[in-house]
Amino acid sequence: MTEFDYDLFVIGAGSGGVRAARVAANTGAKVVIAEEFRVGGTCVIRGCVPKKLFVYASRFGKDFKDAKNYGWTVDEPSFDWPTLIANKDIEIDRLNAIYIKNLNASNVQILDTRAVVRGPHTVYLLNEDIEVTARTILIATGGAPFVPEFPGSDHAITSNEAFHLPALPQNMVIVGGGYIAVEFAGIFAGLGVEVTQLYRGEQILRGFDDDLRNNLYDEMVRRGIDIQLNSDVKEISLAGSGYRVDLANGDTVYTDLVMYATGRKPNTFNLGLEKTGVEIDRKGAVIVDEFSQTSIPSIYAVGDVTDRVNLTPVAIREGMAFVETVFKNNPTSVDYDDIATAVFSEPELGTVGLTEAQAREKYGDIDIYKSLFKPMKHTISGRDTKTLMKVIVDAGTDRVVGVHIMGPDSGEMAQVLGIAIKMRATKADFDATVALHPTASEELVTMRDKWQPPEAEVSQ
Ligand SMILES: Cc1cc2nc3c(=O)[nH]c(=O)nc-3n(C[C@H](O)[C@H](O)[C@H](O)COP(=O)(O)OP(=O)(O)OC[C@H]3O[C@@H](n4cnc5c(N)ncnc54)[C@H](O)[C@@H]3O)c2cc1C
Repeated sequence: MTEFDYDLFVIGAGSGGVRAARVAANTGAKVVIAEEFRVGGTCVIRGCVPKKLFVYASRFGKDFKDAKNYGWTVDEPSFDWPTLIANKDIEIDRLNAIYIKNLNASNVQILDTRAVVRGPHTVYLLNEDIEVTARTILIATGGAPFVPEFPGSDHAITSNEAFHLPALPQNMVIVGGGYIAVEFAGIFAGLGVEVTQLYRGEQILRGFDDDLRNNLYDEMVRRGIDIQLNSDVKEISLAGSGYRVDLANGDTVYTDLVMYATGRKPNTFNLGLEKTGVEIDRKGAVIVDEFSQTSIPSIYAVGDVTDRVNLTPVAIREGMAFVETVFKNNPTSVDYDDIATAVFSEPELGTVGLTEAQAREKYGDIDIYKSLFKPMKHTISGRDTKTLMKVIVDAGTDRVVGVHIMGPDSGEMAQVLGIAIKMRATKADFDATVALHPTASEELVTMRDKWQPPEAEVSQ
């Protein structure tokens, strides 16, 4: 008889926890997973999946308009928010059921409860009011939206509530400049809401390549989103049936709804970690080594709760590496380089590798290939929009170290480009690839002239 109730106790049935639980159970381990909300976690229930469904919904409006010059007659389109919410919920329920089914099929026991760590091998189950023991505990509790405290901050909703609004507002304020704020600005604007986006920084999407940031800003403004940079919210108060938002610069915005997307916080509050001796950082993230092991050897952590790279495929990778390390005696760490990512803005961004600034700092001498053009589809539709393709090359080795795209399906392109970059493709490899015509991405293999900064930008 084993000295513990379980071989593995996973806290949190999101992307990282579910994958780790299933793969560990498939090795023959006795595994249990506790979930306090819904199996599937942020990505499935109130993150990537419902968001992408909203993105699809938001793009039809412009497609109807673009069809006109192609000969289509489309009656004045109208949009029904409750239909979208109902159908989105059906899809989320379906995915939730699949996740549960897959856990059952792998013989993972599911506990519908909040779990709290009570010791290196002990977990307390809130609903059952009992303690259980496990040889290994995996913290996979993810993160949650965070609204800073200021007068009236409790009036603001977050992305969690945005997925369940009873009705679409006529206008709204979205606060934040990260990818979630940018995506929701595009979603709501596409659905006909007048959107004001307030961001206290100099430009949206800090951390992304500057060309993507600047060009997406232009495109969002062209689509009617009122982006106010260098704007800090001082206070939110009730005004009639809506809100009054007072800014630090003295301006005031009246709006139906305020959504905050200024950041997320690791879910470690009241999780019992400090008492058990598990170290967390100032932001509340669990501190782990390259094998996701915490300061307590029997406790590991994966996914957003560790605040490394907060994306679903990364949480899944970390979960699988954890199982290799602990259950297959094969210490495995995750390679965080060149992770392709997308921003499902309008237009979309796809990116992989280093930004121009990062590449310049790392390699010094770099070559830039850049093309900003009107996509073929819009020569006839008449839409005023641009596509951007940018390739960054380490001049010393000819290796392509970054690719940044703004335009339709750029997320799909970035995923495939990620393979080439991971294989250390050179600019010569890109050039040797025959173009696929007519596509937007053929630009990536046909750009021959290095980009030269305009004369004014060249230092004298
Ligand atoms: C609006 C939005 C859009 C996003 N879009 C994308 C995207 O397009 N692409 C992408 O890759 N990523 C996206 N993400 C990020 C992605 O959702 C996360 O990186 C991913 O879900 C992290 O997985 P995880 O396993 O670490 O945690 P989560 O998926 O957050 O799962 C943690 C689970 O633990 C549960 N839990 C917490 N504490 C306890 C406890 N004490 N006891 C029991 N259960 C507990 C929670 O209820 C939750 O279900 C998005 C996130 C948001 C919010």
